Amino acid sequence: MIRLRHHAIDLQLRHTFRLARGDSDSRRILVVEIEHDGLIGNGEAAPIARYGQDAASAARAAEAMVAQIDDPRAFESAAARAAVAGEPAAEAAVDMALRDLAGKRLGAPLYELMGIDPSSMPVTSFTIGMDTPEVVEEKVREAAGFEVLKVKMGSEDDRRLLETVRSVTDCPVRVDANEGWALEDALAHLEWLQELGVELVEQPLPADQHAEMCELKRQSPLPLFADESVARAEDIPRLAEAFDGINIKLMKCGGLGEALRMIHVARAHGLKIMLGCMVESSLAITAAAHIAPLVDYADLDGNLLITNDPFIGAEVSEGKLVLPSEPGLGVRDRR
Ligand code: MG
Repeated sequence: MIRLRHHAIDLQLRHTFRLARGDSDSRRILVVEIEHDGLIGNGEAAPIARYGQDAASAARAAEAMVAQIDDPRAFESAAARAAVAGEPAAEAAVDMALRDLAGKRLGAPLYELMGIDPSSMPVTSFTIGMDTPEVVEEKVREAAGFEVLKVKMGSEDDRRLLETVRSVTDCPVRVDANEGWALEDALAHLEWLQELGVELVEQPLPADQHAEMCELKRQSPLPLFADESVARAEDIPRLAEAFDGINIKLMKCGGLGEALRMIHVARAHGLKIMLGCMVESSLAITAAAHIAPLVDYADLDGNLLITNDPFIGAEVSEGKLVLPSEPGLGVRDRR
């Protein structure tokens, strides 16, 4: 007998999120609990509005999925086989909960179950959203414990924003344009971004501009990473000519199983790998952290951008996520 419970939670953002696509103060996530044989596995969906998902659609999808799962122990295929099209966040939540259950049943943390070495964790970046120079300066000072910053761009103030960041810190900076530039802007921006010591640039052009992206890659002095251009493993082969790396997110791809497939496919195509996130609680961030030792760059700070995290899981120490050693995800309720 397999049972599902779920509830939505509004995660409150520490700072209003100003992205190229618009502002926001909170994000609604869905927490799922899958009960089987007296154990409970937890999962989280952070639905992506850009793709027409919300907590209600994720809840319906999770119900439909769990109704189709006969054997929750077969987590490697169960969530993927029952997946509801267009609801990868729900798929990620169910996949996560099944893996949490498996770890609890076998008494092993998830990373151990998957044969992953927790000591080879990459440093994780901390996101600085677009804002006035004064607020950006304050945010960079708040991020003093992090060794790498990720700066969100895509406005007319981009250069001033990065110069403000550079006036406070000389740590490595990654830039995320969130599809905010056109080819000519991007070519011009990449020059001064390199001069200001930027390490890599994420999604400079809109996701549908593949030919322009190929041209940009030919001329770019900096490595270019796909985010909005990539969701699942099947997207990766054609991206190898347009990007140097990909950003894998559980909420885009449908969970840890698909994320592992993406890691293998990206490696086979010579692409670098970043593991990213949406605004998420420590539940989903910790799930991603369990596979983070397999990637080159971690950008798992979604739980640090909120003020009401309902969970305790992986925590940042000296810029790196430290995994909990309890069975399964190792995440517990904050209450
Ligand atoms: Mg991005």
